[in-house]
Amino acid sequence: MASNQPLPADAVRVHVAIRGAVQGVGFRPFVYRLAQELGLRGWVNNSAAGVFVEAEGPAHIVRAFVRRLEDDKPDIAIIQSLETTFLDATGYAGFEIRESTGGEKRALVMPDLATCPACIAEIFNPKDRRHRYPFTNCTNCGPRFSIITALPYDRAATTMRGFAMCEQCAGEYKNPADRRFHAQPNACPDCGPQLTLWNSDGIEIARLHPALTAAASAICDGKIAAVKGLGGFHLMVDARNHQAVQELRARKRREEKPFALMAPSFEQALHYCSASDVERRLLRSPECPIVLLPRLAGATGLATAVAPGNPTLGVMLPGTPLHHLLLRELGFPVVATSGNLAEEPICIDEHEAVERLRGIADVFLVHDRPIFRHVDDSVVREVCGRELVLRRARGFAPLPIQVGGELAPVLAVGGHQKNAIAAAVGAQVFISQHIGDLETEGSHQAFQSVIGAFQKLYDFAPKTIACDLHPDYLSTQYAEKRGLPLVKVQHHHAHILSCMAENHLQPPVLGIAWDGSGMGTDGTVWGGELLHVTSAGFGRVAHVRPFLLPGNAKAVREPRRVALAILYEIFGDQAFSLDVPAVRAFSAAELGPLQTMLRQRLNTPTTSSAGRLFDAFASLLGLRQIAAFEGQAAMELEFALAGTKEDNSYPYIIRSEGDTLWLDWEPAVRAVLAEPAAHPGIASARFHNTLVEMAVDVAKRIGERNVVLSGGCFQNRYLTERMVSRLLASGYRPYWHQRVPPNDGGVALGQIMAAQLPGESRKD
Ligand SMILES: [Zn+2]
Ligand SMILES: [Zn+2]
Ligand SMILES: [Zn+2]
Repeated sequence: MASNQPLPADAVRVHVAIRGAVQGVGFRPFVYRLAQELGLRGWVNNSAAGVFVEAEGPAHIVRAFVRRLEDDKPDIAIIQSLETTFLDATGYAGFEIRESTGGEKRALVMPDLATCPACIAEIFNPKDRRHRYPFTNCTNCGPRFSIITALPYDRAATTMRGFAMCEQCAGEYKNPADRRFHAQPNACPDCGPQLTLWNSDGIEIARLHPALTAAASAICDGKIAAVKGLGGFHLMVDARNHQAVQELRARKRREEKPFALMAPSFEQALHYCSASDVERRLLRSPECPIVLLPRLAGATGLATAVAPGNPTLGVMLPGTPLHHLLLRELGFPVVATSGNLAEEPICIDEHEAVERLRGIADVFLVHDRPIFRHVDDSVVREVCGRELVLRRARGFAPLPIQVGGELAPVLAVGGHQKNAIAAAVGAQVFISQHIGDLETEGSHQAFQSVIGAFQKLYDFAPKTIACDLHPDYLSTQYAEKRGLPLVKVQHHHAHILSCMAENHLQPPVLGIAWDGSGMGTDGTVWGGELLHVTSAGFGRVAHVRPFLLPGNAKAVREPRRVALAILYEIFGDQAFSLDVPAVRAFSAAELGPLQTMLRQRLNTPTTSSAGRLFDAFASLLGLRQIAAFEGQAAMELEFALAGTKEDNSYPYIIRSEGDTLWLDWEPAVRAVLAEPAAHPGIASARFHNTLVEMAVDVAKRIGERNVVLSGGCFQNRYLTERMVSRLLASGYRPYWHQRVPPNDGGVALGQIMAAQLPGESRKD
């Protein structure tokens, strides 16, 4: 349907999928009136899978529309999940209510949902029979994905099967007028799961509400509590108590990586952070994610060890009645971090928790409702005025990504870090919950069990497996053993295809895939790639000028090694005597072997990684020489920007080498060395701006209108926003991620899409 009036220049279209008690409650007329009032065009319909809305118009009005869908909804409508995907405007003529469609009724498993306001009111009402009951839930909230063992979804197919409903609960369950009609995990203090508190040896020391108050006193006393939540254990300490937070860091062997905060209430969260409209909506959404928020200048009261040197804080609100009760009892924010050691999967079973978290937790607040599958906290941040999911887990998994068109049944096993798997079923891609880095035996087991559970849940038999090109990834090795036709997908191609799928984009596009590392088709380590993606595959049109990684994995942990390698590229042996922070960070005894390593290229692979280039600049600017966790140096380079307004960039060269272009960083490095006293924030901004200018320069040479941004570097808000605005200003149409992570958590979706192409390398 074409419109008579031209679309405004900043027109966007939003596709919204709303699930919950939104059918038969006047929701469609409400959407219609709201769209009319705001002058938006599009449609609303009802289907078996929920209410779907498309609305287009000026970007700021479309955003206001999304906000008001939740804020102004009819009182009796309950929104369990509201997913938005921003797409290009198509030119609708007006707004209409469309015919209801049958839609795909395919086993839609809902994610776990944060406690609804009606249930919260009950647990804090002394007259209610569920007063202080930590397992209160209803049709609109509570556990789903984490307790479902099979489909169809009914109580016998959940971990609630062992709890027989009492007469009153059964009455609610059978009454169509009740909020708990067919609420499968329905329970009350008489018939449902119960709390207990264990000491560090797993011996019971309190039961029921006294277990909760005793856990709260332990936290008040500076102790570490392991708390069994919705999708796994959290470790909790008083976020105001510096010593307690330090103790948690020491015991968990997590030196500097920021901890997330759980605040008792929305209002309390705002004591420490500011939040935009989008961020406020995310914080209070049923997905209940960790939202990265800017810290308020001058806010006091939190231990510095919570997120040292970090101008943002990861904040979440209580998502279950247990957390509401505990946080209300405490009245102050706690650190809430995954109950695991380093990168292992989160603990889900209390007996296992006592074994694995021995020596970390002082008390264990546990219960007898089993968790069937682990689901971590999701992490989101606002980028370009909308949400960007960085870790896709609770609240999001396993809602499908609609890609349009039937897909061949493919299982994609993802990458190595931040692993998640995906399955193509019908016209939908189901992406699993975040599994983690496949480094440890535990995470490898979790990876296999998630695949098994996914196939069983969706009764899914893949005909093809898609994996990464890298032969050493455990995910690749698993795929090779399955004995099915195999499609090996180049890592950065998968990143771009993932972002294209999410944005419903067809080739050709220019893809900018910037991350830490991925194996290239030439056997070197890629990571600063500009790919021309067509329906036939991709061409590598440009990349970051290659440099060496002395010591390989060690270079990933030590930004100073990468900086030294870059200086060596420019200055040769003179690099070792330069008086700059990166070189001064080594002792003379360390420099000798490095010189040999670089000269003879021993254990020194070549890379074009943008992520490592960020590390190198963090080191050159004296911000970080040795990283305590993956991505720390790049994060600190982004942090250094806080409050800086700098529009300039460093000089650069786009150099033609063979049939590709090099983004040459040499002039930028020389400029940094020439200004040793420059403000690190200004230098950091110039570095970011330079990378953006180089990419825009290449975009102009390629001339493809649609430019797609993916890879872990685009978790960086400044980089993404600057790239988007510079591309727009130059006449290009940039696309970036929304509900699928730009990091390797999104790679499986791209692998699914690659396996649908005829040209991808195939091995039977
Ligand atoms: Zn509820
Ligand atoms: Zn009951
Ligand atoms: Zn990657």
